[in-house]
Amino acid sequence: MQNTSDCGSGRVVIISGPSGAGKSTVVRQLRQTCPLPLATSISATTRKPRDGERDGVDYFFLSDRRFQELREQGAFLECRQNFGMRHWYGTLRDQVAAGLNAGKWLILEIDVLGAMEVLKHADLDPITIFIHPGGMDELERRLRERGTETEESLAARLRTAAAEMGYRSRYCHEVINETVPEAVDQICHLLQQAKERDACSKS
Ligand code: 5GP
Repeated sequence: MQNTSDCGSGRVVIISGPSGAGKSTVVRQLRQTCPLPLATSISATTRKPRDGERDGVDYFFLSDRRFQELREQGAFLECRQNFGMRHWYGTLRDQVAAGLNAGKWLILEIDVLGAMEVLKHADLDPITIFIHPGGMDELERRLRERGTETEESLAARLRTAAAEMGYRSRYCHEVINETVPEAVDQICHLLQQAKERDACSKS
């Protein structure tokens, strides 16, 4: 994997936060509005697609068997089984390498344990951002409003979220997603500052 700290090269940007924090919406709008060469790394998962999700766009939706084959081949930079030990999620090395080689600022929207794994790859020097809605009550309200969860999966996601909130101090930046445009502005601004710092450290 290439060293990413040189001026003009790609960067890895890790965005984590409890599910229901609005990460996907923020990332989508960030890509539309922020004038940096942003791209998202498409993860692999064994969970089933939700309505409107497309294979190869939102995730690579894989069978358990295929996921485990790739895992054994070392295709993942990191991978995790989460939410009550049910679904696997993983960052594909190829996705990251291709993004960085193309000079992209590659967004990894991954959970906290996956992020901790990626941080072990010191050469990637990722910018880490933790997004959350402010508190657990607000998170539960948003997850219920989304309406994609059963009571069982909602309870599992809330338990995971409480544990994830404990990791926020391990990230470089914390963003409270009160409104999407404000969160997007804040993230874009801090990424642009990082770009300026890259340029300064090069000159
Ligand atoms: P969802 O099922 O709502 O799309 O995602 C559930 C959680 O899995 C989210 O917190 C998301 O950030 C995380 N996730 C998505 N892709 C990956 C991945 O490749 N690796 C890890 N560790 N977590 C991921």
